[in-house]
Amino acid sequence: MVKKIKVKTTLVEMDGDEMTRVMWQMVKDKLLFPYLDMNVDYYDLHVKHRDDTDDQVTTDAARAIMKYGVGIKCATITPNEDRVKEYSLKKAWNSPNGTIRAMLDGTVFRKPILVNNINPAVSSWKKPITIGRHAYGDVYNNFEMPVEKAGKLEIVFTPQDGGKAKIILVKDFSSPGIIQVNHNLDQSILSFAQACFSYALGEKIDVWFSTKDTISKVYDASFREIFNREFEKNWKEKFKKTGIEYFFTLIDDAVARIMKSEGGMLWALKNYDGDVMSDMIASACGSLAMMTSVLVSPHGWFEFEAAHGTVQKHYYKHLKGEDTSSNSMALIFAWSGGLRKRGEMDSTPEVVKFAHMLEEAAIATIEGGTMTGDLLALAENNSSNKKVNTEGFIGAIAETLQKKLHD
Ligand code: NAP
Ligand code: MG
Repeated sequence: MVKKIKVKTTLVEMDGDEMTRVMWQMVKDKLLFPYLDMNVDYYDLHVKHRDDTDDQVTTDAARAIMKYGVGIKCATITPNEDRVKEYSLKKAWNSPNGTIRAMLDGTVFRKPILVNNINPAVSSWKKPITIGRHAYGDVYNNFEMPVEKAGKLEIVFTPQDGGKAKIILVKDFSSPGIIQVNHNLDQSILSFAQACFSYALGEKIDVWFSTKDTISKVYDASFREIFNREFEKNWKEKFKKTGIEYFFTLIDDAVARIMKSEGGMLWALKNYDGDVMSDMIASACGSLAMMTSVLVSPHGWFEFEAAHGTVQKHYYKHLKGEDTSSNSMALIFAWSGGLRKRGEMDSTPEVVKFAHMLEEAAIATIEGGTMTGDLLALAENNSSNKKVNTEGFIGAIAETLQKKLHD
């Protein structure tokens, strides 16, 4: 047995739901705790526990990330009416990701995990496309209500300085309908821009930014202006020196161009656009499980997670005692990403090295032909590849890791 590596500062662990909760435990038991001596501040975000605590546990978890700096989160159910019934919940609580992101602010960077035996569905893509998703505002912090009868929707803005309130008629409803009100903050958009420029400079990749500013002439146009101003003021020279570019275009045009590009850029997107596009990129690169995701807060806090959900369908099979072949790559990379960041912040290179080795072991396992069902159909050399079940995949990675650590 090798000597355990000491992780200096406490990591914030947020457990989750369904199949990802099952895999989370296996990852900890087989890939982490045998090798690491680490303290975790544990928050159980299981939907039932969120319900029992009136969602206090989610807020507590976000505060713990603010305290320690690095959190690692499992996927969680965002309850809808079906889930309220399924788990007998008091109500359809908000998305924990939404709550945590709103508290930490910041940008979510999502990057595909590339392996050499799976080619992206888009044949021109040669390099990973990283998505930089603004993690504040828009529909994730909105106000919505049904309109049951005819009536007026007015917006009242009351200045805090005692100035005159502004009342604007938005819509005179003559029949039932629906209402949605979105907002954003200049400061949050500015830190989104800074996070993207800084990430791209670090990685030496171009930044593409796209919004629908032709239609949304105030809201989306503000994003464009804030990005432009920040770029001109603080990044233009640095980008030039590094040989990288900042490029703004309408989102429709960006989507069309991305499909013909060779990849390798950071694509900055508003909250909703980033939510949707990151799933497209992940799935085109193999599977939703082949994507890393990190929330970078302007205050220096980091939250690592899987980009996919709780893999509900597989969980129901698992509950029936059937074999599953769920892919734990994104969960493993959430842990390795968090450990690497912790190691960098604590100046403990041995922790950074372990994080690298864990990722290398996971990638080498797939490249060696051992993989879960989601990847099998896409991988080259189909005849020699072997499909393993959920536990078998983690076990195979553990074996590869064990060998690497003894080399
Ligand atoms: P999902 O969990 O992302 O799964 C959708 C489908 O993608 C699965 O049925 C599976 O396809 C495939 N897939 C996703 N992850 C996989 C993995 N690790 N290994 C193998 N295949 C994988 O989305 P969902 O089923 O629509 O949502 C389930 C729950 O997750 C919802 O309650 C939602 O609220 C929650 N959610 C949470 C987060 C988060 O916490 N970050 C994000 C999104 C959704 P096949 O069935 O074809 O095998
Ligand atoms: Mg999504």
